[in-house]
Amino acid sequence: MKKQIPIEPGDRYKDKCGVFGVYAPRRKLSELIYYGLYALQHRGQESAGMAISDGADLLVFKDMGLVSQVFSQNILQSIKGNLGIGHVRYSTTGSSYWANAQPVFGNFRSGSFALGHNGNLVNSRELAMELSRKRVKFNASSDTEIIARMIERGTCEDIIEAISSALGNVVGAYSLAILTEDRVIAVRDPNGFRPLCFGEINGGFAISSESCAINAIGGDMEREVNPGEMIILSADGCTSFQFTPQVSMSLCIFEFIYFSRPDSVLNGKSVYQVRYNLGARLAEEASVDADLVIPIPDSGFPAAIGFSERSGIPFGLGLIKNKYIGRTFIQPSQAARKIGINLKLNPLRDVIKGKRLVVVDDSIVRGNTSLAIVRLLYDAGAREVHMRICSPPIRHSCYYGIDMVDPNEFIATGRTIKEIENFLGVDSLHYISYQGLVDCTGIPKEEFCLACLDGDYPIACYDEINYEKLMLEKIVNEK
Ligand code: SF4
Repeated sequence: MKKQIPIEPGDRYKDKCGVFGVYAPRRKLSELIYYGLYALQHRGQESAGMAISDGADLLVFKDMGLVSQVFSQNILQSIKGNLGIGHVRYSTTGSSYWANAQPVFGNFRSGSFALGHNGNLVNSRELAMELSRKRVKFNASSDTEIIARMIERGTCEDIIEAISSALGNVVGAYSLAILTEDRVIAVRDPNGFRPLCFGEINGGFAISSESCAINAIGGDMEREVNPGEMIILSADGCTSFQFTPQVSMSLCIFEFIYFSRPDSVLNGKSVYQVRYNLGARLAEEASVDADLVIPIPDSGFPAAIGFSERSGIPFGLGLIKNKYIGRTFIQPSQAARKIGINLKLNPLRDVIKGKRLVVVDDSIVRGNTSLAIVRLLYDAGAREVHMRICSPPIRHSCYYGIDMVDPNEFIATGRTIKEIENFLGVDSLHYISYQGLVDCTGIPKEEFCLACLDGDYPIACYDEINYEKLMLEKIVNEK
């Protein structure tokens, strides 16, 4: 029997986290936050949590698992309040265990607060060491815990000032949702690495990592939270101010390529439209004689449609994805792998057989999944496979919240495109050009982080970031 390469759920870069918050005194808060988190589930599947306040007391409920696993109907009915925040997590610093689930709880001199974070700090080691010297106790090993403990130590009376002051020492990527007894607060770092927006809903306001979650609860996105801006939702309505000057907009380009949902809007641009443009541009940059354009589901869909319409080659489905496999599914045993069970993708043999295929994917990180998919397609009878990729080759680490740290793991490190083509065994391979990618967004290059593509890092970071993680674990374990 032919040895099959398993398509591992973990063989792609990991989504980051999602934050959500609502101020709506006359609505069923826990349900609104539940549906908001449900719409952000693609951003993190390890744990989910929410914090809700009734104006006097603040309650945090969180656990490991998907949103639907963590919150039963009974739990939702028992959590009551007027304002709250929610979080879905994939770990980028700190291991995957309960204490690292969010929101993180904190005590402040004038009350309590809860904090949800999307992003990654690049000076967490330094901050953790400093707090440790001051005998601050940690409950978890995430960098979110560091932000919470720094806010707790604020000497100002007002928590807004304490948050601003704590963030003055923090360097890196952070989009935050913070809850106090009477306020929901949205904060975005001065580079705006991770998305964050706010909008109006019936009876109140919402903040969210992506606009799709505000739409999911019947609201409309008002605008993005600006880099360096803090937005406060309370009985006084919606107020905002710059807590620190905007340094430069450095939105992660992979939000457009892969992370965000296609029905979200980022920087005023539809994610779906940008992905469609990427496919159309690929058709211009690397046309090929072929019979069928197929996407790698799901993120390859809009680009494959764009490629098909620009090239005139028919669009079709060649691979069916089991959408219900998340990070929590039971990994197939070694024995099951040997007999070739592939749980994630199944080829449509009748569609593929004898065809010259254009296969459109968002990106290639380590290459194992692409290799497995190419094998599947040939085994299903494809005559030719031409891969078209919506990002340029990834050759540099990400320090801002995506799980891509070791460049030695990337297939493009130290390989030419021809060598990658040979490694994958495809008839042709083309990555979209760097300029093509930027052009397709309709946004100036200067407003993006493209560091994993060009090595040009918007803010200084430390090569020993893995060491930082180890130090954080050590500090927690020694407590
Ligand atoms: Fe996004 Fe790459 Fe920048 Fe990380 S390095 S924030 S993945 S563009």
